Amino acid sequence: MIVFCDGEFVEAEQAKISVFDHGFLYGDGVFEGIRAYNGRVFKLKEHIDRLYESANAILLKIEVSRTEMIAIVTETVRRNKLQDAYIRLVVSRGTGDLGLDPQKCRRSEIFCIAGQITLFPQSMYENGLEVITVSTRRNNPNAINPMVKSLNYLNNILAKIECNRAGVMEAIMLNQEGYVCEGTGDNIFIVKDGIIKTPPTYVGILKGITRDTVLDLAGEMGIAALEQPFTLHELYNADECFLTGTAAELIPVVKADGRQIGEGKPGEAFQKLLTRFREFTPNVGELIYQ
Ligand code: PMP
Repeated sequence: MIVFCDGEFVEAEQAKISVFDHGFLYGDGVFEGIRAYNGRVFKLKEHIDRLYESANAILLKIEVSRTEMIAIVTETVRRNKLQDAYIRLVVSRGTGDLGLDPQKCRRSEIFCIAGQITLFPQSMYENGLEVITVSTRRNNPNAINPMVKSLNYLNNILAKIECNRAGVMEAIMLNQEGYVCEGTGDNIFIVKDGIIKTPPTYVGILKGITRDTVLDLAGEMGIAALEQPFTLHELYNADECFLTGTAAELIPVVKADGRQIGEGKPGEAFQKLLTRFREFTPNVGELIYQ
């Protein structure tokens, strides 16, 4: 496996970072999880824009242009001869000293890893997931804004630990007011009376690229879609619920906190959107291999 690390492409074993890297010491940095389908990187521009926006929000200077960053990602996929891939792009504050002050870091560093995508089991899409809400609240946007895809994922990790302990696969996080935010690594949608709803960014969520794609596809398909806050009561009484994310695409949720959602199986709107999503993804973006 070839990895882009600190300005060059090297074998994975040679890709090393300093123990003084502030991404490692403090979670000080930003990242993206991106996917390639069929020799094209899906929504690469959108991912790169989100990366630079996250970096800007934490005053992290990225040393290369957006165009150069796009080239780093596509070249990493190309060097690994991948058609379908999961790509991790990281910009860390770089090497500093043991203090947290980012001024001590000389420059930010870029890492890009592209590997084979591990697909989620088909049974998950057919039978749906059970989720629970957890006691860990989503980061308050006035503290670490969830819009920033930072390397500090401890909030989500605590939620994951809670759902692991409960023996379910995903946790739903609420904000301080009790509105539904998102999963540990995915956005949430509900469907009621034919209208799909997902929380707006101001409740405290990551603005998922898959979420935006689903909203666009719903619009094209004539399915009404709203970005609107909703409560647990609405989740429990929804006709359908599903999660969205780069790795999982769309996954149905059939039970939340022991309440069966709708008929307890993947719903009609979900099926239609997943089918459309899967037709759409292999044809988006420039071909990597010309
Ligand atoms: N929320 C969180 C907290 C995430 O980590 C992710 C995964 N990046 C998502 C939502 C989904 O975002 P995307 O569709 O861009 O993968």
